[in-house]
Amino acid sequence: MTEENNKVTEEKKNLNFIETIVEKDLAEGKNDGRIQTRFPPEPNGYLHIGHAKAICMDFGIAQRYGGVCNLRFDDTNPSREEVEYVDSIMEDIQWLGFQWGNVYYASDYFPQLREFAVQLIKAGKAYIDEQSAEEIAKQKGTPTQAGTNSPYRDRPIEESLTLFEKMNKGEIPEGAMVLRAKIDMASPNMHFRDPIIYRVINHPHHRTGTTWKAYPMYDFAHGQSDYFEGVTHSICTLEFEVHRPLYDYFIDELKALHPEDGDYRTHQFEFNRLNLTYTMMSKRKLLQLVQEGLVKGWDDPRMPTLTGLRRRGYTPQSIRHFVDKIGYTKFEALIDVALLEHAVREDLNATAKRVSVVIDPVKLIITNYPEDKVERMEAVNNPEDESMGSHEIAFTRELYIEREDFMEDAPKKFFRMTPGQEVRLKNAYIVKCSGVKKDTDGNIEEIYAEYDPATKSGMPEANRKVKGTLHWVSVPYSLPAEVRIYDKLFTVENPGEEKEVDFRELLNANSLIIKTNARVEKELEHARPLEHFQFQRLGYFNVDPDTTEGHLVFNRTVPLKDSKKL
Ligand code: ATP
Ligand code: MG
Repeated sequence: MTEENNKVTEEKKNLNFIETIVEKDLAEGKNDGRIQTRFPPEPNGYLHIGHAKAICMDFGIAQRYGGVCNLRFDDTNPSREEVEYVDSIMEDIQWLGFQWGNVYYASDYFPQLREFAVQLIKAGKAYIDEQSAEEIAKQKGTPTQAGTNSPYRDRPIEESLTLFEKMNKGEIPEGAMVLRAKIDMASPNMHFRDPIIYRVINHPHHRTGTTWKAYPMYDFAHGQSDYFEGVTHSICTLEFEVHRPLYDYFIDELKALHPEDGDYRTHQFEFNRLNLTYTMMSKRKLLQLVQEGLVKGWDDPRMPTLTGLRRRGYTPQSIRHFVDKIGYTKFEALIDVALLEHAVREDLNATAKRVSVVIDPVKLIITNYPEDKVERMEAVNNPEDESMGSHEIAFTRELYIEREDFMEDAPKKFFRMTPGQEVRLKNAYIVKCSGVKKDTDGNIEEIYAEYDPATKSGMPEANRKVKGTLHWVSVPYSLPAEVRIYDKLFTVENPGEEKEVDFRELLNANSLIIKTNARVEKELEHARPLEHFQFQRLGYFNVDPDTTEGHLVFNRTVPLKDSKKL
C-alpha cells in the first residue's frame, strides 16, 4: 500500500464528531437509514472561505454515507437578497467540487409556512403584537430576569387571524405589527420569549415578486424547511446552538399536525465556524467593502470570498485540504491564515509549471557573449513531477535580473550578484560581475558580467561551487507584464473583534502593490486566465482575467516560503 493510501485509511478512521453521530444514527436505523443534508445560504452575498467549511461538511456527509445534500436558498428577507448572489453561490459550490441533489428555496414554502402560522394562531400559540420593535425589545428581559408579557398577548384568536390576514394582504405598514409565537416570557432561553415569527417587508422578493407582504423570520423558516424537505441532519454553526430548542419546538408542533410522517424527524447539529486571521467573514461588512469601493469587487483577490480566492490562484483542492486539516469541533477558534497559504503552496508545488519572471528588472550585459547568439536552455517544468517535461528558455547577451539580486557594496553574506563574485544564472552559465553603469543620480542602469562558457548547466564544469543562483530572462525574448502583489487585507489579526475602531481604519494600505515593469519569459505568451505558475524564486502566481492580447496580468497567490514555521 502506498503512503498516500495509508493516509487515506488513516483519515477515514478519524471521524469528526458529526460523522460519529451519523454512524450511530445509521446503526440505530433512524429515519430508515436515510441521510439527507442541505447547504442553506441566504442569497445576500457571495460565499466565503467560512462557507467552504460548511459546504465540505454538508456535502461531505451526504457523499460519505450515500445520502443526498440539497442546496436550499434561505431567501426569507427580500430586502437583502438578489439573483446575482444565487448564481454566484451555485457557481462557487460547483467550483469547489460538489454537486447538490435538488435546488430548493425557502420561498417555495411560503404557502405552507403561512398555513402553519395560521394553525398556531388558531391553537392559541401565536398572536399579533402591535407594539414597536423597541417596545418588544424592552420587554424581553435579560437572561437572568424574566420578560414582561405584551399587552396583546391574550388578544382574541379571531383578531389575530384577521390581522395576520391583513399583514399578508399588504394592508399593514412595515413595522406596525408582527406575529409572535406565544411560548414563555420567563424562559431562561431568550429565544423562547415569544419570538417574532412574521414581519411585514415591502421590498419585492427576487423570486416571488410582490406576491407576499409578510415574511417568516429565520427561526420560523429554517427548521420547517428542513422538515418539509425531509432533511435528517441539519448541520450549522455554533451560534445556532441556542436556537436549537426553538427549532425542536416548531418541529414538535409540525409533527403534531402531521401524524402521517411517522417517526421521521430532523435534528440540528452545530460545529465551530471558521474565523481566519487578518480577514473577516461578515457578509455585511464584505458587502460594505465592495459597495464603498474599498476593494475592486466580490472577486477582488484580497477578499476571503471563494470567487476572490479563485481569482487569487487558490485551487479547490487546496481549500478542501485546508478544511480537512482544521477539522470540526465545538470550540470557536481563530485559524492562522498561514495554514490556508500552506495548503495552496503544497498543491501548487506539485502541479504548477516553473517559469522565469523578473518583477523589478535591471539589465545585465554578458560582455563576452556574442551579440547575435541565442542559446535555447532546457528548463525543467516541475522537479516534483517528471511527467511535466521541460521547455526552452532563450539565453542572450542582454538579460534582465531582479534589481534586488545585485548589490555594489555587498556584505559578506550576500550570495547574489556583486562585483568579483561568481553566481549561477539558473539553467545557464556561471557569470562574474565586472562593473556597472550608473545615471547622474547614481542609480544603476546596467550591470556588466562575463560568463564562463565551460559552466553551462549539464556540462562537467557545471558543478563548480557557487553560492547563489539567480533567475533571469532574455531582453529580446521576454515580454512585458503587470504583476499584482497582495498582502493581508487588514492590519490586525482579528479585525472583527475590534469593537471601538471602524473596520475601515484597519484596512492595510499596502494590501495591493502593482508592478508594471515585469518581464516574463516567452513561454508565458499564451498563458490563459487562471492558469497557475511558479515564478522561480518568487512564488506562485496565476493569470488574472484582466489579461488582454499583449497585456499579461499576473496575481501573486502566495510567496514561495511560509512566512513562519508552522
Ligand atoms: P449572514 O451574516 O448573512 O447570516 P452567514 O455567513 O451566516 O451570513 P448564511 O448564508 O446564513 O451566511 O450561511 C450558510 C451556511 O454557512 C450556514 O449553515 C452557516 O452556518 C454556514 N457558515 C457561515 N459562515 C460560516 C463560517 N465562518 N464558518 C463555517 N460555516 C459558516
Ligand atoms: Mg446566517
